[in-house]
Parts: sequence; C-alpha cells; structure tokens
Amino acid sequence: MAIGEFSLIDIYFRPLSRPVAEVALGMGDDAALLRPGSFSGAMAVSTDTLVEGVHFAASTPAADVGHKALAVNLSDLAAMGARPVAALLALSLPTLDEAWVTGFCEGFGALARSHGVSLIGGDTTRGPLSMTVTVIGDVPEPEAMRRSGAQAGDLVCVTGTLGDAALALRLGPAAAESLRQRLHRPSPRVEAGRLLRRWAHAAIDLSDGLLADLGHMSKASGVGATVRADLLPASADFIAVNADDALTLQAAGGDDYELCVCLPPETVPQAVAALASLGLALTVVGRVTTGIGVKLCRADGEVLDLVHQGYSHFPG
Ligand code: ADP
Ligand code: MG
Repeated sequence: MAIGEFSLIDIYFRPLSRPVAEVALGMGDDAALLRPGSFSGAMAVSTDTLVEGVHFAASTPAADVGHKALAVNLSDLAAMGARPVAALLALSLPTLDEAWVTGFCEGFGALARSHGVSLIGGDTTRGPLSMTVTVIGDVPEPEAMRRSGAQAGDLVCVTGTLGDAALALRLGPAAAESLRQRLHRPSPRVEAGRLLRRWAHAAIDLSDGLLADLGHMSKASGVGATVRADLLPASADFIAVNADDALTLQAAGGDDYELCVCLPPETVPQAVAALASLGLALTVVGRVTTGIGVKLCRADGEVLDLVHQGYSHFPG
C-alpha cells in the first residue's frame, strides 16, 4: 500500500531535523520558530530551485539530486561567509516513489548532517519533479561578504579548480569519477567562506561560470576586472582530458560551486595559508580594475574573446 503525504514527512523528512540552538520549534507545526537572539549576527537567507530536465537529468541518482539541492544553497551561504543553521524543502514529486525519496533524503541528509543543518520545514506536492530549498545562516553583519565591495587593485582569487563539472556534463558516463563527483556532488565551500570573510572585500559563488559571475560582482561593485587565462586552476583529471575548448569550460562552464573573492593584495598570503589548512587551494586569477566589464586575457596582455560567456536561463 502506498504511503501518504503525512507518513512520507514522518518517515523521510523528520529524521533530517535536529536540535539546534537557533530553532525553538522545528518541523511539524504550521510554521517553524527561530530565535533571533540566538544568532550572533545577521540571518543570511537564500533559496534555489532545481528542476528535472533543466538542472539535472532524469537519470541522475536520487542521492546526487538530494545532495546537490542542498549544496547549491549552502554555496550561497558560503559566498556570504555565513554559518549554515537550518533549511526548508519544498518538493514537487510526480509519484510517491519511496525508493527515490529514500535516495534523495540520503544525499540531502548526509550533507545536512556534515554542516550541522536542521531541516525545519517545507512542503510536499504532486507535480513535475523539482525542489526548492531555502537555507538560513548566521554571519556577523560587518563581515558578510557582499558582491558590491570590490575595489580597484584587489586580487581576484578562486577556491579549488574550475571547469570540472562542465567537463563532466560534456563527457557524460565517460567522465572520470572525480569529475562526475564535481558535477553531481559539489562541496559547498562553507568553511572557506567563513575564513575568507575576514579579508575579502567582495565574494560570489561560481554557479554560472567565472566570467559571468565575476561580471555580476564587478557590476555590483562598479569596477572592472581582468582575468588571466593562464592562471585558471585545473584538476589533474581535467588536464588529462586535454579538451580543445578547455579555456571555455574553465572560464564559462558553470556549476563549479567554488568561491570567487576579491582580496586586498597584502592579505592573499594569509588567505592562501588559511585555506591550505582546509586542504583547499586559493589561486590568484586576476585583478580588479577601474572601469567596467570583465576581460579575459593571456599572460602577455592580449585580450581573448570567448563565444559563450556563461549560463543564462533567459538569454538576451
Ligand atoms: P500545511 O498544510 O500547514 O502547509 P503540511 O501538511 O504541508 O502543512 O506540512 C506539515 C508539516 O510538515 C509542516 O511542518 C511542514 O513544514 C512539514 N513538511 C512538509 N513537507 C516537507 C518537506 N518536504 N520537508 C520538510 N518538511 C516538510
Ligand atoms: Mg504545505
């Protein structure tokens, strides 16, 4: 016998709730209750939707979808320098497929536990497969990394490596496992964001591609930026594929879920050392300039043109 909506909530979603100091009342009532006084700074709130056929293929394992639905949201908190606290999950399911929900909750739940996040509520409806996750975090307001603080002379730095997810999407089942993980199981750079907020003038997480997202940050800051193509960090498995459009994948591929931060030059050595303690690379890839727009150039300064500059759901 098929289980109903309410037992679905009790069996699968309630185990993802956990006691956290900031939450007075979690899942199960008409609304959750947060304790604003338990937050040390500002509440950071963000939401992101994944839609089958748009953000993930129907063939994607449910656990990967659950992981990614939370990961892309935690990445937004990371980009603010916030500590994740709680999440809400609005889920639309075509059928009540318990095996799928079990997998989804495994992926979502493992990532939530590893970041101390409690699932405090949500909604479950019938419809095309999609999910909207809302996350709540805590960040000291003066240190919250906005997109708007970049200053000419700052160095543009990125965490980790670029292009892996875009290459995995291109290669499909032929992709090396490490590349596949980067596409389906991105690691939100939460700890990195919390360390970087001490020094960063501005930050953004890389979902649409470096050039597009850096473009958002430079526009919000009223500055320009130059990115050096020869400095973009690549993983060993990315390099091994030797794709002929490697630069496009790295600069505009999207789905990286790394952080891009603008740092005063004198703070870069400390920031690099701090992230090294997490086992994470921080690489200088360019510089913030006066003027407007993001340029991609070679080591000798020649400006490069990419046909495709990043992902947009509504291009034009
Ligand atoms: P309402 O009718 O008030 O919208 P629901 O029946 O939708 O309440 O939900 C009952 C409880 O279960 C609520 O506390 C809600 O937050 C929670 N809930 C429903 N769906 C989910 C879900 N997908 N994830 C987490 N909590 C959920
Ligand atoms: Mg409801």
